[in-house]
Amino acid sequence: MSEANARRVAVQTATSRPLRTLPRQVDAEGRPLRVSQVFGSRVFHVERMRQRLPPEIFARWSETVEKGARLDRPVADAIAHAVKEWALENGASHFCHWFHPMTGSTAEKHDSFLWFDGAGRPVEKFTGGMLLQSEPDASSFPSGGMRSTFEARGYTAWDPTSPMFIMDGPSGRTLVIPSAFLGYHGESLDEKAPLLRSMESLSKSAVKLLALLGSPAARVTTTVGPEQEYFVIDKAYAALRPDLLLSGRTVLGAPAPKGQSLEDHYFGSIPPRVLAFMEEVEAELYALGVWAKTRHNEVAPSQFELAPIFTEANVAADHNQLVMQTLRKVADRHGFAMLLHEKPFAGVNGSGKHVNWSMSTNHGDNLLDPGHNPAENLRFLAFLAATILGVYRHSAVLRASIASHGNDFRLGANEAPPAIISVFLGGFLTEMVDGIVSGAVANLAPGQAMIELGVSRIPAIAQDNTDRNRTSPFAFTGNKFEFRAVGSSASISFPTACLNAAVTDGIEQLIAWMNAGDDVMTAVRKALTESAPVRFDGNGYSQEWVDEAERRGLPHARNTPSALAFLNTDAARDLFERANVLSHEELHSRYDVRLELYNKKVDIEAEVLREVIDTHVIPAIIAETQAVSGVSGTLARERLMAIEEAGDVLLDARKAVDTVLAAVPEGGVAAVAEYLCAEVVPALAKLRAASDAAENLVADHRWSVPKYREMLFVNG
Ligand code: ADP
Ligand code: MG
Repeated sequence: MSEANARRVAVQTATSRPLRTLPRQVDAEGRPLRVSQVFGSRVFHVERMRQRLPPEIFARWSETVEKGARLDRPVADAIAHAVKEWALENGASHFCHWFHPMTGSTAEKHDSFLWFDGAGRPVEKFTGGMLLQSEPDASSFPSGGMRSTFEARGYTAWDPTSPMFIMDGPSGRTLVIPSAFLGYHGESLDEKAPLLRSMESLSKSAVKLLALLGSPAARVTTTVGPEQEYFVIDKAYAALRPDLLLSGRTVLGAPAPKGQSLEDHYFGSIPPRVLAFMEEVEAELYALGVWAKTRHNEVAPSQFELAPIFTEANVAADHNQLVMQTLRKVADRHGFAMLLHEKPFAGVNGSGKHVNWSMSTNHGDNLLDPGHNPAENLRFLAFLAATILGVYRHSAVLRASIASHGNDFRLGANEAPPAIISVFLGGFLTEMVDGIVSGAVANLAPGQAMIELGVSRIPAIAQDNTDRNRTSPFAFTGNKFEFRAVGSSASISFPTACLNAAVTDGIEQLIAWMNAGDDVMTAVRKALTESAPVRFDGNGYSQEWVDEAERRGLPHARNTPSALAFLNTDAARDLFERANVLSHEELHSRYDVRLELYNKKVDIEAEVLREVIDTHVIPAIIAETQAVSGVSGTLARERLMAIEEAGDVLLDARKAVDTVLAAVPEGGVAAVAEYLCAEVVPALAKLRAASDAAENLVADHRWSVPKYREMLFVNG
């Protein structure tokens, strides 16, 4: 079978897969089960803990979690016993500490409950010690230079604020313990600890500001709802595309004549095969206690979205990892390849993760909800101002937090936010904020100022007026901000931790001004005045904005190496240290790991592209040349000339890639990253363009790599 025939077989496979459906879940009487009846069935959630733990143990656990204190051993032992019994009843044979190393994905090492009693008989055993801590042989995880090999082992520690759950395997089950991953000296080696620390700092500062505002609270949680965008295509295509298999993205491929220009896919009816897949994903997520809420077609063909209901940031981060994991796993069962990459296809939209973010008190008050009375209005204004100030002062860090090789192809491209961080408030709020800045209401008492400004009308109007601007990387959407620049494959932990750190800093500044004698409105005005340059409501996709932003002095890093450089500055080190999120050393390790990851990704893409060009594209061009040479007539002659010309361009571009790759400098990761970005990435793009031009000149049956139109439009 020729390669091109393999492509045809893939199309046949994709169009003839049987629909996979699940039997409807019913209760004992045969009535369909409601989602609320199965939700969290595999989670050791608070309610289950209350039922299964002795009351005094439950109370001590709640208290520990509330205070963020350390669990003592007897409590841990009792919880371990209860969760073991529950896990065994549910068919689990193993447990694992599940953690988030700096690779951006998750890691787990399974141990069975199997043990021996005094008489050497097999029993199941699980102690508080095993629950609290585990020591994976974790020397292969990136540490960004924080560990030397002689002390390479780290340990994982249970995060008691994120519930344990049972993971289904093909024929067994595992109890999963959400954990943080630390080095021997307590240094954070993962994505979770910084997030937890940032939530703690934000809470402390917000509580102080609330006290000054006369609206006391004991605790403030960061709430997050990450919308997840993704592509699914038939896995028969992916299997024939080394680039999708190895780099998650098509490194070549001529755009289909119809991309998303008709915008007929967005919110269109979901194809049955995809719907069947989504339903199974949701069934799994419900059992795991993930608040999956919304599903719809996205803008690009074969692009979709899953959005959850928001929850505490650390749980949301765990859940988002579960969402990505479940999407991958279930896609495979349905014959799909799950593409979580930020830009799997050139010429159509990329995928992001819109991180909806707010702050909520222990009384359940959303601090970014404009509120219904003057006190709530004032609180809203203070937290809004603090947020904008934090984002303004630390926009470079926020830009760095979302930097990745994949996101470089998305930011500033089709329907993706630009690589400049700005804040969108919408017309009504902007008018109000401008009023405050201009001093129009400076001399009024806060209550009166609120009325003058029409703040009490915000809820209705803001809800209605916002979210119209899809081009902003950080948009106010009625009662929360939406951080839209986060990449679809990224962990939300680091961007959220950075945002928390920035806002903590903004809150602390308001507190400092007020402690120095300013009243609230004066402090708000100072914050809004200073941060005015970061506010922008216009078209973020336009070149005028790029020019304007640079005039305003907003940082604009066009690519990952220059964005990550922001992490290697005193401003960043001070911020993370002040907000108690990362020590200098820990921050440097993030900088290092991310650069290293960038370098590896460019390397992989270079290798993949060379391979596909050498083993697919060039043979196809040669075959095409052979087929038309010696054939008489103008048509064949012109085709031969065109294909030979395209071949020459391709060959030059191919050689240029070898040349730049041969000259990668020796030296630190940063120097290598800069070189790869400046020299190799453009050379790869040029080679791709040459290949895409040739693709349109080679007879379809001779082209062996699945084409865009098949992958995007022919999926059953
Ligand atoms: P859209 O932004 O698409 O119009 P919604 O506003 O309903 O839709 O919500 C989008 C996402 O924002 C959902 O995941 C939702 O749970 C989340 N969200 C809503 N309120 C908050 C909040 N206070 N904090 C964090 N996320 C929130
Ligand atoms: Mg969306």
